Amino acid sequence: MKIVCFILCLFLVSSCVRESDYEVNTSLEPYLNTFVEEAQKRGFDYSPMVEGLVMEFADLEDSKAGICYHENPLRIEIDQEYWNNLAGYANEQDLKKELIYHELGHGLIDRRHENSLFPNSEWRSIMCGGDVGVENRSWNINFRSIRQQYYLDELFLVEGSELPYWVSPSFEPKTGFSEADQTINTISSHVYVGHGNSYEWEGSCVDEKYTVKNNSVDKRFAFAFQNIEVSNKQDFYYEVKIHGVSIPKQTNKVGIYFGKSIGATLQNYHYFLLDCRGIAYIGNNVSYGWYTDLQTDVYALNSVTFGIRKKDKKLYYYLNGKCVYCDEITVDLGGDLFGFQLPPGCMINVSDLKIYGSSESNNRLAKVIEPIEVDDSMICPKWTK
Ligand SMILES: [Zn+2]
Repeated sequence: MKIVCFILCLFLVSSCVRESDYEVNTSLEPYLNTFVEEAQKRGFDYSPMVEGLVMEFADLEDSKAGICYHENPLRIEIDQEYWNNLAGYANEQDLKKELIYHELGHGLIDRRHENSLFPNSEWRSIMCGGDVGVENRSWNINFRSIRQQYYLDELFLVEGSELPYWVSPSFEPKTGFSEADQTINTISSHVYVGHGNSYEWEGSCVDEKYTVKNNSVDKRFAFAFQNIEVSNKQDFYYEVKIHGVSIPKQTNKVGIYFGKSIGATLQNYHYFLLDCRGIAYIGNNVSYGWYTDLQTDVYALNSVTFGIRKKDKKLYYYLNGKCVYCDEITVDLGGDLFGFQLPPGCMINVSDLKIYGSSESNNRLAKVIEPIEVDDSMICPKWTK
């Protein structure tokens, strides 16, 4: 009798799941499959085809990228516009995974939002999110390279023994370079090459201090020291002090970058920017949005020494000599520019330029080139999830 009851129960349970309870858009299914694989690696079994799941595109309101409805079957909606926006970017696959995993985290792992921060102010969890923001921060997490493994373990609540090392990076800016490697140490020897002013910007140099003003109301300009090799093979350290003299908006971002240009267009470049609220933005222009934003105790309206160091496959970011972020290079480097960026309506002083390089070619004289207008595509709409 017991066996009959068991079989009857089994039949009733299985008959509750009709084939139509599994409806996953074919564009979304690969990400569901990798989620299930990641779960299996960590000892969890999910069978959405048996248990039922609906994943579909929708036109979501209020800048929502995705929503999970705890219905029967579980239903997840992904904003079609957000999904389309990611196409072609270097981090497209990572961001698509991140969004789907976040929603499945709600639905299959039954996780709520987890908005706590690491000591360096990075989000602790891929489950960060919600309609109400936290201190003007985006929900961006750097779900790639050295961080992805951690965020996956955290998603499935695998106990970690220690904080990941990248939470509190430490690396001396100049380690490995001798004074002889310091190829450029003054602004004035280079500033007059190709500089002056236009109706949109002004540049002048007095006592090793370069003053630059952006008169445009809507254009961001990138100024560059050109002819210095940037490549995957060469290590370098680039540092410059930027004093924000006039930065009208709290959200205006000033900072540095390196990369390459073709003609008057900046191609690949990595940026490291800071606003007047102390939020630092790290990323590159071939990726959608910045990788991460950090709340720092350094503000763009003060005098700030920015630094970026490349050592092997890693990039280290410095504010006033302190390493605040470490990341792995996942896009092709290459080019000949180190520079700084200036948003519309701002004026800054630039001084104390230092570039250390491991390349012979760094001995070539740098020249300052005409400012390049920068596409503001790095500005990331405030998507919620
Ligand atoms: Zn969420």
